[in-house]
Order: sequence, then structure tokens, then C-alpha cells
Amino acid sequence: MREKVLLPRLGAEDGACLRSALTVLGREPVEVETAEQAATLLREESFGLLVLDTEAEDSAAWTRSVQRAMRERGGPALLLLVSSERPEGRLLTEALSGTLAYAVRPLSRDAVVRTLRSLLEQGPERRDDAEASLASEWKAELRREREVRATVEGRLRELLRSEQRLHALLEATTSVMWTLTPEGSAVEPSVSWEAFTGKTFAEYRGHGYMNLIHPEDREGVWKDWAQVLRRPTPYSSEYRLLRHDERWRRMLSRGVPVLGPDGRVREWVGWLVDITEQRKHELALRESEEQFRAFFNLAAAGMAQVDPVAGRLLVVNAKLCEVTGYSAQELVGMNYIDLVHPEERPQGSAGLARLVGGDAIPAINARRWVRKDGGDMWVEIAATLLRDESGRPLRVLAVVQDVTARKHAELERGRLVSVVESSPDVICIHDVDGRALYINEAGRGLLGLESLAEVQGLSVLDTVHPDDRRIIEQEVFPAIEREGRWVGDLRAVNLRTGKAIPVFTQYFLVRDSESGQKTGLGCISRDITERKRSEERLTFLTRASRLLASSLADETTLLMRVAELAASSVATCCMVSLIQPEGTPRWLEVAHRDPSRASHVQQALREAPTPAWTALFDALSTSGQAVLVDIRETRALGPMHRALLEAMEAVSVLAVALTSRGHVLGIIVFASGDPDRLYGDEDRGMAEELAYRAAAAVDIARLYAQAQRAIRLRDEFLSIASHELKTPLTPLALKLQGMKRTLPVESLGDSAERMRADLELAQRQVRRLAELVDGLLDVSRIRAGRLQLELELVDLSALVRELVERYEPQAQRAQSRIFLEADPSILGRWDRSRLEQVVSNLLSNALKYGAGRPVHVRVSASGGTARLEVRDEGIGIEPQSLHRIFQRFERAVSERHYGGLGLGLYITRQIVEAHGGCVRAESAPGQGATFTVTLPLEGPSEVESPCDDVPEEPAS
Ligand code: ADP
Repeated sequence: MREKVLLPRLGAEDGACLRSALTVLGREPVEVETAEQAATLLREESFGLLVLDTEAEDSAAWTRSVQRAMRERGGPALLLLVSSERPEGRLLTEALSGTLAYAVRPLSRDAVVRTLRSLLEQGPERRDDAEASLASEWKAELRREREVRATVEGRLRELLRSEQRLHALLEATTSVMWTLTPEGSAVEPSVSWEAFTGKTFAEYRGHGYMNLIHPEDREGVWKDWAQVLRRPTPYSSEYRLLRHDERWRRMLSRGVPVLGPDGRVREWVGWLVDITEQRKHELALRESEEQFRAFFNLAAAGMAQVDPVAGRLLVVNAKLCEVTGYSAQELVGMNYIDLVHPEERPQGSAGLARLVGGDAIPAINARRWVRKDGGDMWVEIAATLLRDESGRPLRVLAVVQDVTARKHAELERGRLVSVVESSPDVICIHDVDGRALYINEAGRGLLGLESLAEVQGLSVLDTVHPDDRRIIEQEVFPAIEREGRWVGDLRAVNLRTGKAIPVFTQYFLVRDSESGQKTGLGCISRDITERKRSEERLTFLTRASRLLASSLADETTLLMRVAELAASSVATCCMVSLIQPEGTPRWLEVAHRDPSRASHVQQALREAPTPAWTALFDALSTSGQAVLVDIRETRALGPMHRALLEAMEAVSVLAVALTSRGHVLGIIVFASGDPDRLYGDEDRGMAEELAYRAAAAVDIARLYAQAQRAIRLRDEFLSIASHELKTPLTPLALKLQGMKRTLPVESLGDSAERMRADLELAQRQVRRLAELVDGLLDVSRIRAGRLQLELELVDLSALVRELVERYEPQAQRAQSRIFLEADPSILGRWDRSRLEQVVSNLLSNALKYGAGRPVHVRVSASGGTARLEVRDEGIGIEPQSLHRIFQRFERAVSERHYGGLGLGLYITRQIVEAHGGCVRAESAPGQGATFTVTLPLEGPSEVESPCDDVPEEPAS
């Protein structure tokens, strides 16, 4: 008969486990609900074993029933179910005696089997015998057992505590627990395994669990097992396991062999940990570390990890080596401050200290470093401090950007900007729409702008004087569109004062050097105020010189014209003073740009005190230079003087003396009323030059006037003298004529002939004298405009023929022959005696200067003009004298060889031209001379004479 085992109704798992264990041991379980039922059954039946659940609520009642039964008939062996969580349940057993054993929850069938097996080996029969025969021994044994039990209880309590901890730990780690036989087969169900995999025990028992391992990992698992099975050591393996949600999870499996008393493996216990997330994180971490390493090494910027305390470089990347020129070995261990330029080391150390001190330093402005080769380099550093968990500075991570090229470009740009800023020329840059982006200092000064901020947004038009803006619109913009540039003169405007400033300007398109795209409009201008002034001075000097040289007008007129010229250009007001013959200065009229103010100044000048002017005259006379007077600093010598200064409205005055041959002739005063037009050295030079030329002109005008007076006196003298000489000549001629007529030839005999000859000679000399005096008289008449023509019908051919005959004796004396070729009759309205004078002059000259050679006379007419030609073969005339010989007293021969007054040709020309005709000479030295006279047949007309190639003598 199978021995019965009394057991209370237990939970499903415990019940199943116990039942299974009892089946293994061949015992029959009898389950009861309550402690009373148990007490009843214990009294009635015999049980080999009683299971007592110390955890049950009625465990105290059960204990009492068991104690009673044991007292009455000897109790069965006891299996106490205890829980590792509540070891105090164990204390109940203090009240119990007899054979007992413990099964600790959670129950394991094998453990229960093993415990029961050893417990049941002491059967009830043996126990009965022992009770009967060995009562005393039993008691001693009992005592010993109690002692042992106390010891065991103590150990168990310790064990339970650690087991409890273990359970808590296992729960916390959500581990999957497993037990396997020494051969690696699953023979016990595992709740946690089932929970994790969602599989029933039937599905994984034996080696069924292998099917839940990822096919690729199975071989590895087998190998690991094979290894530990050969030599039992703690087992560890990693593989993918199929979770209840059909996902592969990476598991870490660890197990230890549990050895039996014989030293052989009794079973394997172990647990699985889901390390999927951990592995993922590890992978991610590894990836990120690798990425960081790659980033660190491949970064285009230099990177370094620096010891925050010592400042030593711990790790450097390739780029840092490249930019500094050091190798990684050289850099690592080096103090980073050694890389910093000596001048910047203090800031460098301070920067690190601040960073370590907790200041956030996101980026550091360009710092100067020194490369290995000693060359300067510029770097930008961004650094961040890494701390450990406790917040202590761990290391500094620094990113170093080599900005040397940019810095050099900046320095270059800085230099360029300073060059542009200090340029005396105006330099502007506008955007493509013509809005100013930048104007240099010279430009800002010119435009009256105080700062760069005022530049922004100004348009090209704004900077140009309103009167010249149409040039920008109509010329500049189209030219830039067409040719990309425009060059020319303009007027800029001072935006503060509105003043126009003449500038020489170049506008040009600014293009991007690479793409060629238009990026703006550039403008370079030069203030040409000074150049304009120079031009103005030069123009004034040129015009004034021309004016001074072009006329021989009197000095006052000349100087007034110069003053007017000055007042319209280099001065607002110009005053001229001349020293009078008696030695005192006299103010001439005043020229003012505003003519209505001229008389005002004139009045003030007259009333101004003399001392001011005397002082000025003295100063100018002694210095011999132009004197600049800054009116604003001139102290008025009195109210009248002040009135004068005010009348002039001048801010700057320039005075210069007119000096000629060591004498001061007068002064010129230039006054400027324009505050921007203060006279300077250049103006002084101009004034001196003008004074020099004006003085020369005044001198010449004065000399000319003197010469004119002298000529007038001479003419008056000649006129009087010729009249006086003429008076005795007529009676003298008559007397000679009478003497010749009344010569007593018979009485005088031979001497009569001699006397006649003498009388004839005397007559000739008187005629000659009369001719000369007539010439002089004619000149006087001509000069006085009293040459009267008595016109009548004259036959020129007959007149010339007659005169040629008359000149026959003279020709013979000159050993010349006169050949005449004349049209039969050429009639015209002329003054007969004056024409005779013309022909006589030409014939007598031909015989005088062509003596010994033939003389050809031709008279002809064509087209209403008569023509007379007298040609000799004599000494001829120098080309440069051809014109001159027609002027008064002009001669081309020496007086020693040829007598004469130089009046014949002058009178000839005056007569011919009075007739509306012309006379000209053609000759060359030694080639003879041809004098040609043309006369209109109808006589003089109102129309001007066509002979304009012979210069007029200036009228006196
Ligand atoms: P004059 O003969 O009295 O000197 P004229 O007025 O007649 O004055 O002539 C002016 C000058 O012209 C002369 O002095 C002489 O030098 C030059 N001249 C005039 N006629 C001739 C000529 N036929 N051949 C060369 N020279 C001449």
C-alpha cells in the first residue's frame, strides 16, 4: 500500500509541484481544506508525511492540530513549506517537534523530491521503534537536534536573506531564470522563461529551447555548451532569442554548474538578461565615438584636446599639425601657450583660465600664433570645457581655424582703406542703383558730411550741384551704360553750405573680378578749385596782356579795361591808382563785379584817409612785391576807412605796385568778397606778373604819347619850315629867269655863254629846291588831310609822253635811255598836276637808281583801269624794304650814295590812293625795280581802295 501524504489545498503551482514530486516518490496525496479536517484525519488515519504551509493564514490552527496528533499517536514526518520572503513563517516550527524538512518557495519539483526522499527514509515504523525503546535517547537526540536546528535555522535565515536579496535583484533585473540538467536539457518549467518567450514548457523542454535561438546563433550556443559540458565552468554566451512578440532580442546568458556532494554537476542554473538595448546603445556609442574620431581626424579645422590645468595638448588632429607645421608627436605634450605669439600670451593664458573658471567662451577673435617655421599665423579658436560627472574640469576641446589668409586679406583691406581714406582725391563707391555705400574722408569733407553714417543712401545726384545734375542724367549715366565710364568736369555740392566745388571726375562701373557682374558704381573726383583758379588767373593774365598789347590807348583807358577784366574774374572789385606828374597818387575809376556798387566804393575811396593809402604805396614801393592784406585782420584807421573797407565788401585784398624802370607809376588793388577766395601766393605771382606787363604798357603808352607829340611838333615845324622856304623861292626863280632873259650876250662875248650855263644851273637847283619844298608841303597837307584833287579829263598816254620828253635831258645826264610804250589815248577823271607828280617821281627814281641802264615805261588800259609801269634795271630793292619805302621819310639806300628825303613814293602812294588806285613795287637786289600804278578811269570813288597790302601809317 502506498503511504499517504496529508497536504493542505495549495496554490496551483505549489500543488502541482508537490503532487508531481509525490508521484515520483510513489506516495498518495490526500488534500484537506481546513486544519480541523486535518486534525480529524490525523486521528483516524495513519499518514507517513504531513505537509504544512507556514504561509497559510490558518497555519497556527494547523500547527495546533499537528501538535495534538503528534502527542496522541506520534506524528508523521513534516514538510514545512516556507517562503523566502517571509522567513518568520519558519518560527512556527519552534512549536513542532519530530522529523521535519523544509521546502522553500518557489518550489522546485526536483528539490522537493530530494528533500522528501531523505525525509521519508525514516519511515513511521522506525520512528515508533525509536519512541518505544529509546525514549531517553530520543530526548537527548531531540535536544541535540534542536541545537542543530537552531544552528541550521540561523544559517537558513542568513541564506534566506541572501536568497531574498537575490530574488529582489532578479526581479529588478527582469532576468529570465533557467535550470538545465547537466546535459543541458530543460526538465523544469521556468515561469520567467515562459513569460519572456510566450512558449509553454512543452515547447521548450528538453532541447526545445534551442528552437527559440536565432538560427545563426545556434551553432555558437552549441559550441559554448560543448565547452562547459566538458569542463564545468561558469557559462556565458550571447545570442538572439525570439521574444513573445516575435522579435529577436539579444540576450546574455550566464550559468553556473551546481555540484552535487560527489563533485559532479547536479544541474545548471542561470539567467538570461535582455541586452538588446544595451547593445544598441553600445553600438550607437561606438558609432558616435567613431564618428567623433573620424570627425576629429578629418575636420577641416585644427582640433585639440587640452589639459585644462596644465594647458598641455593631449590629442591633436591632422589639420592642426598641417596648419602649425608641427608633427602630432611634437604637438602632444606641448603647452598650447607655446603656440601663441609672445605678444599675445597673457591674453591666451587668461582665456584658458576664464574657460576653466566657468566662463562661456564660444569663440575667440583672431589670435596670433607662431608656426614651427617661425612664421606668423592667425587663428580663431572656439573652445569648450568638458567636465566629469562630479563637475571637475576634464579637458578642453578646442577648434582652431586658420584664418591667416582672411586676416591678411583684412590687413590688406585695412591698408587699402587707410590709403583710400587718406587719399586727397574724393573716392566714392555706390551700389548699382547709385546709392552711396562709401565716401572717403576727402569726399566727406568736400560734401560737408561729418560721418560715414551720413553717407549711407546718398544718391549720385545728391552729391552734384543742382545746376549740373542734368549732366549726370544726360551724359554720365548714358556713357556708363555705353562705355562703362565717364570722365569730365563737374561741380560737386557741399551739402552743408550749398557751395559748388569744381571737380574733375571719373565715374566707372565696378565689376566683380571673377564673374564680371556689375557690383557698383565707382567715382574718383579731384577738387579742381585751385586748378580752376589757376586757369582763371592764366586766362585773366592772357586777356589782360592781349588788351595791354593790342592798343596804344592812353594809360588810364588801358588800366581801366584791365580793372574791369579783373573784376569779372579774379577779383570782386579792382581799383587802380596812378601817380600824377606832380607826384601824388590819384584814384582812377573803380571796377566792381556789381556795377551798381562801383560808385559807392569810389565815393568811399575819395573820403578814405590818405594815410592808409600812403602807407600802402610806401610799402609797395619799397618791397617791390605784391602785398596780401587780410581785411579781417586790418584795423580801420577811422570811420571813413572803415566805411571804405565795408564798401569794398572784401575779405581779402591784394595790392601791387606798377613799377617801370625803377619808378613806381601807380598801384593796382584787387579785392575779393568771396570768403572762399582768399588771395594766396599764386595770386600774388599773378598780380606781380600783371603789374609788370601793365607797367610796361603804361610806359609804352606814355612813350608813344611822347613820340606822337614829337611827330606832331616835327610836322608842325615842317609845315612852317616848308612855307617859309617856299616864300623866297618863287621870287628867286623869277629873278633867275629874268636874269637869263636880260643877259647882254653881245657885250659879254664868250663869258655870256658861261653865265647862261651858270644861270641855268641855278635855275635847276632852284627847281630842285622847290620840288623838295613842295614835297614837304605836300606831306604837311596830306598829314593835315588837306590833299585836294582837282579832277578833270586827262589823257594819261599824252601826259606820260610829255613827261618822258621833259625828262630826256635828265636821262642823258644819267646816261640812260627811256623807252616808252603807250596806248594812243587813255582818258580818265584825274588831277592832272598830281598825276604829273606821280609820273615824275617814278621816272626820276628810275633814272636815279637805274642810272646807265635803260628805263621802260608802259601805259595801257583794260577793264576800266589804266595801268602805268616804270621799269629800270638798276640796284633793285631788298624784299623786306618793298613795303616800307612807301612810308614817310623811309629810304632803302644810304644817304651817302643817294640824296633824297624819302618822301617821293609816300606822296605818290597818297595821290594814287586818293584817286582810288594802287601802287606797288616788285624788285630784287641788283635786278632792277618795277613800279606799277593802276588807276580807275572814272577817278576816285566812295569805295575803299583795293590796295590793302601797303600798311597805313598810324595817324598822329
Ligand atoms: P628818295 O628817292 O628821295 O629817297 P623816294 O620816296 O622816292 O625817296 O624813294 C624812297 C626810297 O625807295 C629810295 O630812297 C630808294 O631807296 C627806294 N627806291 C625808289 N625807287 C627806286 C628804284 N627805282 N630803284 C631802287 N630803289 C628805289
